[in-house]
Amino acid sequence: MKALFVTSECYPLVKTGGLADVVGALPLALAATGVEAKVLLPAYPGVREQLRGSRKVASLPGMFGGDAALVGGTTADGLAVLLLDAPHLYARKGGGPYLGPDGHDWPDNHLRFGALSWVGAQVALGRVLSWRPDLVHLHDWQAALTAAYLHFAKEPAPPSLLTIHNLAFQGVFGADLLPALRLPASALAVDGMEYWGSLSFLKAGVQWCDHLSTVSPTYAREILTPDQGMGFDGLLRVRSHHLTGIVNGIDDRVWNPATDTHLAASYSARRLPAKATNKAALQVELGLHVRVDVPLFCVVSRLTTQKGLDMLLAELPGLMARGAQLAVLGAGEAWMEADFRAAARQYPGQVAVVVGYDEPLSHRLQAGSDAIVVPSRFEPCGLTQLYGLRYGTLPVVARVGGLADTVIDANEAALRDGVATGFQFSPVEAAQLGVALHRACDLFADTLAWQRMQKRAMTREVGWGVAAGGYLTLYERLLASTERPA
Ligand code: ADP
Repeated sequence: MKALFVTSECYPLVKTGGLADVVGALPLALAATGVEAKVLLPAYPGVREQLRGSRKVASLPGMFGGDAALVGGTTADGLAVLLLDAPHLYARKGGGPYLGPDGHDWPDNHLRFGALSWVGAQVALGRVLSWRPDLVHLHDWQAALTAAYLHFAKEPAPPSLLTIHNLAFQGVFGADLLPALRLPASALAVDGMEYWGSLSFLKAGVQWCDHLSTVSPTYAREILTPDQGMGFDGLLRVRSHHLTGIVNGIDDRVWNPATDTHLAASYSARRLPAKATNKAALQVELGLHVRVDVPLFCVVSRLTTQKGLDMLLAELPGLMARGAQLAVLGAGEAWMEADFRAAARQYPGQVAVVVGYDEPLSHRLQAGSDAIVVPSRFEPCGLTQLYGLRYGTLPVVARVGGLADTVIDANEAALRDGVATGFQFSPVEAAQLGVALHRACDLFADTLAWQRMQKRAMTREVGWGVAAGGYLTLYERLLASTERPA
């Protein structure tokens, strides 16, 4: 089976969050099941240089304001990649995939991701390459317009699956931009991609993809409710029979404490004492007091309201009073960055904050900390708690979305049955987070119980095997009977 992935990020080529990790790992896991996948993404600066054997495979003249080409190549891991090389859209100094250097969206994001989606559709229809996929797998709003182009192509198209990694990002633009996107006026209808007078890329995907998935079963249920549906719950309820939740895996070659080259010392569930070397090294690196006897909590996250870290700031005095430590790596909203920096000044030796994006440091934090805090208000899947499980860094999480699906709370029954892997709190409010943090501190004081939980967490199955099986089943179902939307 041949599958085309259309995406705006792919690890290790370009990453701003979990989407990149998923798209970088899932095709490789699927390859083991016989799926031949190619990943189409924009040629942002520096991406082509990371590919092996890259060469132009097609010309794409007149591509949304300039000439473009399709470049094929493979990553070091053997992932087959197609780059949309459109310098007028992607070759820009500074900024990132979505934001310019001023921190605002690139003003032509509709064209940048419209073009990506348009090329996705052309490849899917066999108009660009001799390679033609049996199925297209779209990721988030940046790729979702592919479904619109396939819908209006009025010729047989391969079945399509849209994975929603985060419903908060909906790709909403002015309705007047429709002609520039090469779509007919009829696309702008209530049963099309019209969204409160504007147009939404994500809505196009929700309407016209044959199937929808999201990255955990709990999130798949949550987004059907007005509370968590972000304005899409009505639409999603209509399509709920074509909506599946599959929990992400983690890439064992990148996230494995036994082989991770970023660490001061490698370790595993059987060689757990070596984790302490990483804790001491991290404390030294970040200027924290070097102590084994106090719990070191960490955060590796975008600093946004979604991630609920304002609640952690609110609970910080209580945590500090217990002598615990906190190490934060993140970037995001300016006020939150400032508040965390202020906390580091207020609690020297106890709180360390690194504002920025630093992949190697994220590994050292996972390895050197005792627990990771993920108090998200909503969380489609969440990856850092999975890395935490793998690294014996017990997750303290809000009971929402994928966090609810992947962490087993250390309540009395779970402790007695020997199945607990972390700490959950609900409802998602600061006081409840505080309770969970104190429960974690209490358990940390019981060294044997803590180590038992660490070993259990580290041996939980969190790789891509199960998820890849879930996607394969879905692909096969889609190929057997294309579930055209009504
Ligand atoms: P989201 O995709 O919503 O940001 P996830 O938990 O699904 O959240 O994925 C976040 C990914 O980004 C993880 O791989 C995490 O380690 C990484 N990450 C987040 N912030 C940083 C940072 N400041 N530095 C390095 N890695 C980060």
